[in-house]
Amino acid sequence: MRPECLYPLFAPVTALPGVGPRLAPLIERVAGAHVVDLLWHLPHALVDRRFCPMLRDAPPGRVVTLRLQVDRHEPSASSRRPYRVFCSDDTGRLTLVFFHAKPDWLAKALPVGAERIVSGNLEQFNGELQMTHPDHILPPERAAEAMTIEPVYPLTAGLPPKVVVKAAKNAVERAPQLPEWIEPGLFRQRRWPGWRDAVAGLHNPADEAELSPTSPARERLAYDELLANQLALGLVRARLRHAAGRPIQGDGRLRRAILDALPYRLTGAQQRALAEIDADMATPLRMLRLLQGDVGAGKTVVAVLAMAAAVEAGMQATLMAPTEILARQHLATLEGLAAPAGLRLGLLTGRDKGKARQGLLDRLAAGEIDILLGTHALFQEGVAFRDLGLAVIDEQHRFGVHQRLDLAAKGQAIDMLVMTATPIPRTLMLTAYGDMDVSRLDEKPPGRQPIDTRVLPLARLDEVVGGVQRAIAGGARVYWVCPLVEESEKTDLAAAGERHRELEELLGPRVGLVHGRMKGSAKDAAMSAFAAGDIDLLVATTVIEVGVDVPAATVMVIEHAERFGLAQLHQLRGRIGRGDRPSRCLLLYGAPLSENARARLNILRDSEDGFRIAEEDLKLRGAGELLGTRQSGLPEFRLADLAVHGDLLVIARDDARLVLESDPELQTARGQALRTLLYLFERDAVVKTLRSG
Ligand code: ADP
Ligand code: MG
Repeated sequence: MRPECLYPLFAPVTALPGVGPRLAPLIERVAGAHVVDLLWHLPHALVDRRFCPMLRDAPPGRVVTLRLQVDRHEPSASSRRPYRVFCSDDTGRLTLVFFHAKPDWLAKALPVGAERIVSGNLEQFNGELQMTHPDHILPPERAAEAMTIEPVYPLTAGLPPKVVVKAAKNAVERAPQLPEWIEPGLFRQRRWPGWRDAVAGLHNPADEAELSPTSPARERLAYDELLANQLALGLVRARLRHAAGRPIQGDGRLRRAILDALPYRLTGAQQRALAEIDADMATPLRMLRLLQGDVGAGKTVVAVLAMAAAVEAGMQATLMAPTEILARQHLATLEGLAAPAGLRLGLLTGRDKGKARQGLLDRLAAGEIDILLGTHALFQEGVAFRDLGLAVIDEQHRFGVHQRLDLAAKGQAIDMLVMTATPIPRTLMLTAYGDMDVSRLDEKPPGRQPIDTRVLPLARLDEVVGGVQRAIAGGARVYWVCPLVEESEKTDLAAAGERHRELEELLGPRVGLVHGRMKGSAKDAAMSAFAAGDIDLLVATTVIEVGVDVPAATVMVIEHAERFGLAQLHQLRGRIGRGDRPSRCLLLYGAPLSENARARLNILRDSEDGFRIAEEDLKLRGAGELLGTRQSGLPEFRLADLAVHGDLLVIARDDARLVLESDPELQTARGQALRTLLYLFERDAVVKTLRSG
């Protein structure tokens, strides 16, 4: 249960004074739904309103606070003209300018003849001083309220700055004193403030330096977040590990049959990875291993051989993919690789219902299926294996830690192999997986040709279409990728449909379309028509991003490449260059292209090394955005910026490890404080696995 002291922070933002049903959605959009989200919503600048010159000395272009006499109102003559209020002090004049003004409100706020404190940005217009929409208008006795250093928060359209300032202030007031969870030595050495002081200080900065990501208060909160992350991962790992495993050792019979039928030899990297997996599986400890390899490195066959060993040992295995397309493709691959060796395969996706599903589940429970492939439908209740020994999770970054726990619950002591093609830089890897054991496929199968990647403006679309036409005439198969941005999925899908129609008109009927909203069977049909060569060009959204393997495809066009994350583009591009023929990738961008965006596309043009691309991307974009998609499953940090706080991550990992060695159930006083930290960062699910303390 969440500690009571945190209740006020997990109240909805509407619990704050002045935040009603109209403003709440805007605050939610920019910060989040709960009071605690406002605490994490830090100012990125500040406005110093303490400068109070006389008008004679007041410099245009600066924020000033003025004490003025209200002389005269001039209501707007038309809706397009501003409402003006003429003011003065003993040394000069100033006009206050209001667009779309409410006359009643202005008459009350600025009564003629009265004195008012007015704060805002001073402008010069036709040689005269003016201020448009002052930030504060107050009676003289409340001057102190205006003459402050005011935090400036990130906003969203329609959300007035003052509302956020006030809401954040009220949120900070609700922040309780919390027990210190940081290790005392580190806390002293870094001279960090306590949690509450850090939060209060960051929302009430005295100078620019306090806003810096390396200010002590900011570092402290970043560390808190990283510690919560590392501790949560450590706990998950401990749960998965401590359940003793079973030794799994095959006799090599099925594996040999599979290897004999392969049209190629394993690379050295594949053999090394397989040896590491075998060694893990053979121990009575539970395997928790990440198989990391760049796109096209050949992870699938390694997984198949590992699963074969489990089946040889009399157990079952499962392979879970993030999308249905991919699950089906794995089935096709395994039908080619494993079925000849006599392995019995099954496929379970969300699409399977009723009798067929039940029949499959019955066979699974009876042990008549050796390897079950599927999507996250594998997590569902009622999916029971007779004896699951090994679970392989493909493209892991799409699945969260909780799902990993769910899957673990399906077998008593199953070994887990997690495959990822996403080139995750080391720092991010730590945040996503903790310290799992890692096997790396750092060598591509022989014979791959480099992909010729070009960056072109969308304005050259006609040329591109011409080029594609010629390539198809020469026998090429082409992916045409349209972007899909979450916010406007409908219009994006419409754009993909539109492009499909246009290309069909230009190129004839051998053009297909696949996107995420299509029925599963329609998706399959499009994919298999493309794989079989019945169509030449496949217009697609990012549903083809991961895993799709059509070695004959050699051309890829990506529209609005600037809208994608680099790692995502790398994944997409990894769909070509899989065979031994030269491939070409055209990255089309919408002009104008920012310098940063151009730099990013150029990284991709110049490199095919996923790790290098990811590291460069991290430098240019920051970790949160790295994958370009929110559903990436990689943790998004709100306070920590790995480009800046990377060293803190290592400290957090080491500390989490020490804590879990000495106090694995978080029972000590510090352990209790750390539980509060986990709740504060919403790792509730993980705390629930602990003995109550
Ligand atoms: P990924 O690591 O991206 O999942 P796949 O497992 O889909 O890669 O393999 C990519 C392609 O490389 C497939 O067509 C596969 O048959 C082929 N492949 C895998 N291993 C080898 C190898 N050792 N030699 C040649 N081709 C291989
Ligand atoms: Mg794959």
